Amino acid sequence: MSRIGTGYDVHRLVSGRKLILCGVEIPWEKGLLGHSDADVAVHALMDALLGAAGLGDIGLHFPDSDPEYEGISSMKLLKKVGGMLTNRGYRINNADITIVCQEPRLRPYIPQMRKNVALFLGIPEDRVNVKATTEERLGFTGSGEGISAQAAASIDPLV
Ligand code: MG
Repeated sequence: MSRIGTGYDVHRLVSGRKLILCGVEIPWEKGLLGHSDADVAVHALMDALLGAAGLGDIGLHFPDSDPEYEGISSMKLLKKVGGMLTNRGYRINNADITIVCQEPRLRPYIPQMRKNVALFLGIPEDRVNVKATTEERLGFTGSGEGISAQAAASIDPLV
């Protein structure tokens, strides 16, 4: 029986931080604020994967009070989450991520984002989809105060 999970995350955009989405550093005047590298897209994805496996959320596994995770690449955490699923006998069918961001335009970076996620999860690229959209200048993403991301993932028991 396939299982699905969803994830959602938001980070604030501030000056003096790198903008990193799905492990891609995107040249921009602001970046996302957070304890780790604040890769909002990967955070949503990890929550979707953990949710599908019934394993809680990233706050449970990687608490932001833990200095071990300060400034850490979220891709490393994604690899750990992939390993947790493998250890429990799950295979990832597919993952789909939506990044909600007014600026900058993310389309040019999407192929590399897919590659990164597939590589760190050890799955073929065609099982990973990354989309970007805006909220038409409405709300906190529209004003550039932050970026949000949603993700869905489907997993299957191996046996
Ligand atoms: Mg987060």
